[in-house]
Amino acid sequence: MRIVASGSALVLIVLICVFPVLAQDSPASTIQPAANSAAAAPAAPAQSSPPLPQAALTLNDVLDRVVQREHLFMAQMRHMHPMVETYLQDIKNDSAGNVVPVKDAYFLGRLDMTDGPDDVSFVGQPGFGRRMVAKLTGVYALHFLPMGFAQMVVIDSDFQKKYYNFTFVRREFLGEIRCLVIDVQPKEGQKTARFMGRIWVEDQDYNIVRFNGSYYPQPKINFFFHFDSWRLNMRPGTWLPAYVYSEESNLKTGLTKTLHFKAQTRLWGYDLKGLGKSEEFTQILIDSPQNVNDQSAAAADATPVVAERMWEKQAEENAVDRLLKIGLLAPPGELDKILSTVVNNLLLTNNIDLQGDFHCRVLLTSPLESFTIGHTIVISRGLLDVLPDEASLAMVLSHELSHIVLGHRLDTKLAFNDRMFFPDENSFERLDFRHSPAEEEAADTKALELLKNSPYKDKLGSAGLFLKALQQKAPELPYLIRSHLGNSLASSKTIRMSTLLAAAPALDEKRLDQIAALPLGGRIRVDPWTDQVELSKAKAVALTSAREKMEFEITPFFPYLTRLSTGSEKVALTTSTPSAPEQK
Ligand SMILES: [Zn+2]
Repeated sequence: MRIVASGSALVLIVLICVFPVLAQDSPASTIQPAANSAAAAPAAPAQSSPPLPQAALTLNDVLDRVVQREHLFMAQMRHMHPMVETYLQDIKNDSAGNVVPVKDAYFLGRLDMTDGPDDVSFVGQPGFGRRMVAKLTGVYALHFLPMGFAQMVVIDSDFQKKYYNFTFVRREFLGEIRCLVIDVQPKEGQKTARFMGRIWVEDQDYNIVRFNGSYYPQPKINFFFHFDSWRLNMRPGTWLPAYVYSEESNLKTGLTKTLHFKAQTRLWGYDLKGLGKSEEFTQILIDSPQNVNDQSAAAADATPVVAERMWEKQAEENAVDRLLKIGLLAPPGELDKILSTVVNNLLLTNNIDLQGDFHCRVLLTSPLESFTIGHTIVISRGLLDVLPDEASLAMVLSHELSHIVLGHRLDTKLAFNDRMFFPDENSFERLDFRHSPAEEEAADTKALELLKNSPYKDKLGSAGLFLKALQQKAPELPYLIRSHLGNSLASSKTIRMSTLLAAAPALDEKRLDQIAALPLGGRIRVDPWTDQVELSKAKAVALTSAREKMEFEITPFFPYLTRLSTGSEKVALTTSTPSAPEQK
């Protein structure tokens, strides 16, 4: 009680002293401590910077710290080279008045802010702007940000108090983080486009954790899009960009054209050096099965069969290791075990013994794809997100497992290490895990056989339904469906496991209880620092209208923000490193 009373008195004194200064900077003079803040402040644990007495902070003090933290942020980002992925859907109102995606675009690259936000592209020409111009026709070519969506992770590369008017709005929790919400407007008469919108500042170290708005003034021939940009606490005291949602619903460009789109940008792979060698794959010698006839006594040279297996294993390890190091593959983790359980269900019920020699891994990108690298089954985050249930997951895994069971080979050229020396951005050209059409067909046939003996045999209707929905969307969402490393699940002409289509019920968009596919981003959570993946803890909610099904669609981000303390960081590290300790 005493603390609260003296705190309030302090506010009054500070207010009187600094009022003339504040009047210049902001119409809202000070941040009124929330009813519980003065009481809560002493209870908060000591953190990376000494907390000021809560009640003594004026908006001006806060802004000094925000600006200081933002400059520190920019300095940090110059040393960071995270992966940046943007997936965009062009939307349109259908006959029923619902917005549906009609076209899409994709970008994957690595952010390089050494000289302003720019990026190295993995899919096509370098530079997002140029890439967009090269690959998109019509209205998009003109109107994407020159720097691409990557720019939206930075509020202002020269963020200064003198350029803006600030208005304190309120306090608000984002997840478990208490934030100061502040409206930001560029001052009149500025030549450079600057941020206008709202910022959320966590009230411990005063880092911006979210900003939502656009840049003004808008250039004459281009447009700045609206965006909602989120940062996560990745190291104690360090908040880095993880998600950007962008949307325009009715942006008039020129006389006739209107932009109508939604886009998600995700960043990850901040700590690629920390991804130690995956212990699971460092063992080059494979276990020799007893039933191989030409198996020699131990301590001898490898027999031809063993040598061939070792050679293939080496190619597999090289490829997996490379994908991990460039931040395309998640490190081994709990999710892999869940996927392996489904594969084991298929193996056990079909009496197939692979002697444990298979692995499941998660590709961190959005396009829907799955493929095998030798005995490693890889499935993309985007595909895991949209699959409606376990039976449809089993359908995807059964196809890949069939490649292994049928002995379809990995191109062993990757067993020569010199083939791994290429720039990361060439990965999609240099790494190719596609099978021939004949092998694809054989895998489909085998997969159906595996599924028919499995616990999933009575639930394949949902898998067929998923394929139907995928087939229906394929012409409109080619970038979502186009595979980068393996065979595509579907194209406008063909679809994997097409036999299942016949067994599926008719697609009914109006039925609330028929979910053919989920929206993107709903199931898998990626830790942008470690690249670890886990199932989202959020529970599914009941849909109130068919519009909410949003199959294969982009939705806004609302991450539950949490703060890392030194203690919790340790916990996170121990739970996220399943294999042996890292060697640095
Ligand atoms: Zn295949």
